[in-house]
Formats: sequence, structure tokens, C-alpha cells
Amino acid sequence: MRFAIISDIHANLEALQAVLKKIESLGADKLVCLGDTVGYGANPNECTELVREKAQVVLCGNHDHAAVGGTSIEFFNSYARAAILWTMGVLKPDCKEFLKGLPLTGSIDGAFLVHATPSEPAQWNYVFEPHEAAGEFDAFQEQVCFIGHSHFALFFTKEGATCKVTLPGDFSLAKDARYLVNVGSVGQPRDGFNTACFVTYDMPEGVVQFHRVEYDLSLAYQKIIKARLPRFLAERLLIGE
Ligand code: ZN
Repeated sequence: MRFAIISDIHANLEALQAVLKKIESLGADKLVCLGDTVGYGANPNECTELVREKAQVVLCGNHDHAAVGGTSIEFFNSYARAAILWTMGVLKPDCKEFLKGLPLTGSIDGAFLVHATPSEPAQWNYVFEPHEAAGEFDAFQEQVCFIGHSHFALFFTKEGATCKVTLPGDFSLAKDARYLVNVGSVGQPRDGFNTACFVTYDMPEGVVQFHRVEYDLSLAYQKIIKARLPRFLAERLLIGE
């Protein structure tokens, strides 16, 4: 069984379409979305509809939650706040209903799924460092946990008491190790690459692969400008920061 795991689409339809095309060519059996389907980009309805149609498992991210009034935008930065207010104004009722009903966590064959952290899914904490990741392994039973939220693709490996971080590269699950894998972002990568990112997970082989996909950046850029969303949200797409 091959799972394709995507996260943080952020209403970037061009990136989502390119990723779905790539996933189709890879022949995945199931599609999982770890949340933040909306927020920042210009196509929240189209992205929500596509995810609803294509993914078998869809989780809730902090922007999804905020866009349907669930999370206060008080702690969002000014760009994120402006984008959420814009998104709230354009989201169709059925898309709002769908986003409202999404769970915070899930599981697939041997893996736990959450947008932010397994220990406190609703607190929307970030995991960047091994010392932050180390404690998270107590919060799930499975060998692997897939997360999103930071838009930075990487993975943590825990073997005994040691926890180390590795930048994306394909790997096979080792019997005595456990993993926390950040699948990166489809629609707004912040790890220095401007290509859309996602992961495939093959079971029972236990292989995890990171994929980067080029997409029509200039169209996504133009749409953000045209929607009068903050210009910064268009510009960051170009540099992947
Ligand atoms: Zn996000």
C-alpha cells in the first residue's frame, strides 16, 4: 500500500494540481492531507473541494480551524490574519462545513497523523529541534508520526535515548527506530526551495520518500496579487521562505 501524504496546501491551487498529477504518476493507493488546506493563497474553495474529492484522510490545521471561527486569529501575524479574514469572506458554506468537521488527528497503517504535534494537537506548537521532537514520541504508539505545520521538510529519528534530525532524503524504517516526519508544504514551502513538497509512505516495505514538484508559480503569484491579499504572501512563494 502506497500512501501519498500532503500538508499545508494553503489555497495554492497550482501547487496542489501539480502535486496531485505527480501522485497519480507515482500510483498511490491512498491520499492523506494533514491540514491547512486554506489560508494565504487565492483558491480556498477550489483546494478544499479537490482535497475533499481526492483524499481519504483529511485533518484540520490551524488555518482551517481559524477560517471557520474555531481558533482565534489574535496570535496570527498580520499577513496570516489578513489572509484568514479574506478567506472567511470567500469560503462557500459547504466548504466551511467540511473544514469544520475535520479531526485533529488520525492514523494509517503503522503511522500516527497530526497537523502540529502529537502531544498537544490543538496548541499548534512547532517542532524544529531534536529536543522539541524527543518528547513527542511518548504521545503516539505507532512507529512513525507524520506532521506538517512548519512548512519545513525534515525528519527526526529516535533510537533509544537519542533523537536526531535529518534533512529530507528517502529512507527505510529501521526496526529499532521511531520517526517523526515533517512532510513539508505543498503550497507555501519555507525550507529554501520554491517547489511543492510531499511524501510517499510504502507499507509494509517501510519506505518513506520526499518529493519536490515544480508548479506554475507565476500564476499562483498573480492570483494572490489580484485578490488583494498581502503582496508578501505572493513574494515568499518565489523564494520558498
Ligand atoms: Zn500551514
